[in-house]
Amino acid sequence: MGKQRLSALSKECIKNKGACCEQRTKPVFTPSEVETLIDSNNSDYFEKHGNTAVPKGICGFFDSPLCAVYEKRPLDCRTYPVSVKLDNDVLYFVIDMKCPAVRKGIVTYQFISRAKTAWIKNLPGIEWLKEYSKEECAENHEWIPVEDYKPSVL
Ligand code: SF4
Repeated sequence: MGKQRLSALSKECIKNKGACCEQRTKPVFTPSEVETLIDSNNSDYFEKHGNTAVPKGICGFFDSPLCAVYEKRPLDCRTYPVSVKLDNDVLYFVIDMKCPAVRKGIVTYQFISRAKTAWIKNLPGIEWLKEYSKEECAENHEWIPVEDYKPSVL
């Protein structure tokens, strides 16, 4: 197998192994992601915490420094630090300034564009997201609209 070059973002993620899962609150699970995880013996988590809440600000699937459901982790984790929010039923994309790679400006426009495409392709409407918006959860993010983020690398 040929050598693969790691992007600056991948290197930063490896360096900060697990930091985003440890810091972040509330990964968003779509209804089908909840079903997939329940079908693969993770019903305890959802019975205990509901399908959205995350205890103590740390994801219940975080098993330091790894994700216990990595292969089946939700899209929200795959696209992190890019995520989705609702404002008056209008969907918009945000990026988390708490992510070390965002702070360094090494999350590229290309990554953001791919993340947005993945969300648009897989988004099951917005009703489920309204439920998240209603919930009270101590957020440990500094979300800004993706349009306000200026990468230092293009
Ligand atoms: S589901 Fe896995 S990748 Fe996502 S926040 Fe939880 S531990 Fe991290």
